[in-house]
Amino acid sequence: MTPHVDVLVIGAGVSGLTTACLLKKAGLRVEVVEARERLGGRILTQPNPLGGDPIELGAELVHGLPEETQMWLNPIEDLEERGGDFLIFENGKLTSSPSYFVKVSEVLERLSAPVSQDLSFQDWLDQIELEDPDLKEWVTGYIQGYHAADATEISVEALREIERESQEVDAVEGARFFRGGQGEFLRRIEREFAQPILLNHCVSEVHWSNLGVEVRFKSSKVPSIRAKKLVITVPIGVLQSSSGQEGYIEFHPELPQDFQQNLRLFKMGTAFRMSFIFKKAPWIIDPRLADFGMLLDPSPDALFRVWWKRGENQIIGWHGGPDPRLSISSSKEMLEELGVKSLSRLFGLSEIQIKADLEQTFVYNWNSDPYSRGVYPYIRVEGKSAVEKFSKPIENVLYFAGDAGSLGAYLGTINGAIKSGFRVSKEIIGLS
Ligand SMILES: Cc1cc2nc3c(=O)[nH]c(=O)nc-3n(C[C@H](O)[C@H](O)[C@H](O)COP(=O)(O)OP(=O)(O)OC[C@H]3O[C@@H](n4cnc5c(N)ncnc54)[C@H](O)[C@@H]3O)c2cc1C
Repeated sequence: MTPHVDVLVIGAGVSGLTTACLLKKAGLRVEVVEARERLGGRILTQPNPLGGDPIELGAELVHGLPEETQMWLNPIEDLEERGGDFLIFENGKLTSSPSYFVKVSEVLERLSAPVSQDLSFQDWLDQIELEDPDLKEWVTGYIQGYHAADATEISVEALREIERESQEVDAVEGARFFRGGQGEFLRRIEREFAQPILLNHCVSEVHWSNLGVEVRFKSSKVPSIRAKKLVITVPIGVLQSSSGQEGYIEFHPELPQDFQQNLRLFKMGTAFRMSFIFKKAPWIIDPRLADFGMLLDPSPDALFRVWWKRGENQIIGWHGGPDPRLSISSSKEMLEELGVKSLSRLFGLSEIQIKADLEQTFVYNWNSDPYSRGVYPYIRVEGKSAVEKFSKPIENVLYFAGDAGSLGAYLGTINGAIKSGFRVSKEIIGLS
């Protein structure tokens, strides 16, 4: 049977769009199919109802700047520094003590010493002696928050590599905003692709052999598509889903056993991100807070430990990793309630006052979204080579890309998704 296209790409997130764009530029016939009714995947930008900086419901920061990403953006024109003081809530008040980061960094530096056998971050931390009893709690909070990971599952060997490379590329402290929002960034790649994307095309079956693929869709009204090669950029959470779940893709024949086993070494992290837009921001009335950029509440009972300001009327709260108070189906109302409590404590204002000044709250639950099933992936114990194995094409017909396709500082980031798109396109173009 003649193929309809040279390459079919599943998923119109930043990885799928990058891949499609590069393949098309190389003269290949490409089609992109996407389950949702919109592009972007885990990039979801909305306008601010009061004007000013946009609301990011998914990815917000640019962590480092690999050369691949620079093909789509100009750092001077497009990126915005995150300014402002870093404040910490200690002894009942916000202070500008830098000791938190220094102490946490000192512990993380100890990751660089090799371990004889891979173990979870929690097990590693339990073996370490620290003078300050609060420090273990802080460091665990940092790892779980930043990596959206369970400290009892994340691999210390993979973390070592991520931490080392993140320092090299200044991915954490040097992270910047994309001016105008990540949605603008995405539109730039979409414009360059200059071809309609097949939305509402939820892939349900992939029939493959070394000659090519036939891809079928959930809706029987949508005709199948045949291609010489297939690039799959759906999130790890979707690849790990089970038959009968929305988004699940059945492969005929099954994917090789070693590929399937390798998939289990990844885990999709869970996190909640919340944007509060204020008519009158609580930080305006306190002159000590005039220049804050980020707030940290390291106390164990704080649900949203990290808050950062974006523009004049927006503050974002972040909770990453497991927590007995949350489930993947936690409601927006419940999160808003907990967020208001946190802000009331941090700013020393009543909850009634915070609510009265609040214009709107934005939350999106990626953990229960069937097309993401979490926020971004992390590596479990013994999974240091999982990314490498995931990135190997199968029979030069099936190619996997996305934010799980890049280890080091870029795992689980937009940059990682772009880099893997470059890798896959290069491999395919090399064979064409
Ligand atoms: C709350 C949150 C905050 C984040 N913060 C940052 C940040 O600050 N900086 C950063 O760099 N990264 C951040 N990330 C991670 C970043 O969003 C991702 O790494 C990146 O967007 C992944 O792009 P992708 O193309 O690999 O995957 P996706 O964007 O998930 O694209 C995959 C696409 O596949 C589609 N799909 C799924 N199943 C099917 C199916 N069966 N058939 C057809 N299509 C399907 C999905 O709908 C989706 O559009 C954040 C993520 C979240 C959720």
